[in-house]
Formats: sequence, structure tokens, C-alpha cells
Amino acid sequence: MANTAWQRRIRRAEHLAARHPFAAEILGFYIHTARFQEGLYQRLERGSAGVSPAVLQEEARVSRPLPGQQDAGAANDRDLTELVASFPQFLSLVEEKGPARLAQVAHDLRNETSGSWSDLLNACWSAHGDAPVDAQEFLALAFLQPYAEFVRSRAPMQLDGYTHSLCPFCNRKPALGVLRQQGDGGRRSLLCGFCLAEWEFRRIVCPGCGQEDHAKLPVYTADSFPYIRVECCDTCQTYIKSIDLTKNGLADPLVDELASVPLDLWAQEHGYAKLHPNLFGM
Ligand SMILES: [Zn+2]
Ligand SMILES: [Zn+2]
Repeated sequence: MANTAWQRRIRRAEHLAARHPFAAEILGFYIHTARFQEGLYQRLERGSAGVSPAVLQEEARVSRPLPGQQDAGAANDRDLTELVASFPQFLSLVEEKGPARLAQVAHDLRNETSGSWSDLLNACWSAHGDAPVDAQEFLALAFLQPYAEFVRSRAPMQLDGYTHSLCPFCNRKPALGVLRQQGDGGRRSLLCGFCLAEWEFRRIVCPGCGQEDHAKLPVYTADSFPYIRVECCDTCQTYIKSIDLTKNGLADPLVDELASVPLDLWAQEHGYAKLHPNLFGM
């Protein structure tokens, strides 16, 4: 079996679904989504063969409209065409395998025109404000995620000295944190749930408001997920989950974040809002 990042995430999701029945539904849906995303990524990769690096760099400016909308160019049109053509297939998948609330939204969207899909995809690609997004937008973002990863992986990124809490590539808030071994402790980085950029971020700082006072940044863990930290801030009342790979090297940050839904429920019951929802809107 090919050992792509998607396949590794799928295997991890299968493992966690068997262990945590409460997460089986969301992980099952994730597995279908990840298979679709891998296929889309491969189609995009094949399509880009032979495109010059200059064109790809141009595409890499993620805050601009999706390729083909306003900055039409041969290569850009090709990506948008591929994306719009693949969208109904994704919607059918959600209709068939997704949770009821998303299935209905996918069904309604599938009956719309390709022009409105194109508008939706563009709007979601460009938006990264604080406004909560609706189910349509979550679907569009989940669909666009492999494209964001594809474009980001081809963009030159200089992360030396980057200290901000927003994604250095697409400007979104981080979806989760990751702790990796460094010396005797763990070094924290933040992970963008959309383009999957990962960048270092100081450990005792709230990524929501910059609070540095240890006493205002409580960290909670639960027995069911001892390697996942719920890092809260009593100043801006947000939280982010960090996957501690120094405690569990088998964890996959994206997948384990999805599986640990009870931690989200706990944090939300205690008055904390998630800094940025994951691609399934949780
Ligand atoms: Zn990003
Ligand atoms: Zn804060």
C-alpha cells in the first residue's frame, strides 16, 4: 500500500475509530473525505506537470481569488476547471457518507449551478476573517483543503523569525498545536488546518490574544487522551488542542484532534471557545 500522508492518516483514523466508539462516525466520514482529497491532490499534481515554477508561484498567493476568476491564465484556468468539475463528486460523497446536517446541505448545493459553486469556492478560498462559517463554507473548505496544501507545498516560504499566531501562508488561525521533542522538553508549533503549514510558536503564549502570564493559561488533559493538551486562555476565553508527540509518537495531529471530540465538549462546557474550528466545523 502506498505510504502517502493521506494513507497514514486513514490508517490512524481506522485505529482510533476502533478504540473510541464516540468518534467512529466522524472518523468514518473523515476516511471517505481523505480518500477523495488524495485523489483530488493527485489530479492537481498531474495537471501541474510541465507548468513552470513561475506560474506556480503566482498561483501560490492564497489570499487572491481562486485561479481563473480574475487573473485568468492558462494554468490557472486548468486548476479552477479541475476543482469545479470535481466538486459535485465531493458533494455526492458527503450526501452519502456525511452526518445528516452536512448531507442535506450537500444535497442542496449539488442542485445549484457550476457558476454558484465557483463563487462559493472563491469566497471560501479568499475569506479568513473571524466570522463563523456555515455548513456550506465548511464543505467548500474541506473540498479545497488539498488544493491549499498543493499550492502551499509549491510556494517558497521563509519561516525564520516568524513569530505570529496566524498561518504564514494563508493567514488563517491555527486549528491545533503540536509538541515535538526538543532537548528535554517539547517545542510547540502551530498547524493550519487548511493549507497544513506548520510553524514554531512560543509555548507559553496564547495564540488568540498574546497573553503570556502562565497563571492565565491553564492546561487540561483527560485520561482518555493523556497526550492531548487543552490549552486555554482565561483572558480571551479561547482554547486550542495540542497533540503532544513526545508522549505519543503514533498520533497524527490532524486525525487525533478530530478523534478527541470529548475534550472540545469539555472545554466548551467550561466557557472556552475553540480558537479555530476544524474542517468538520467542530
Ligand atoms: Zn494556512
Ligand atoms: Zn488569549
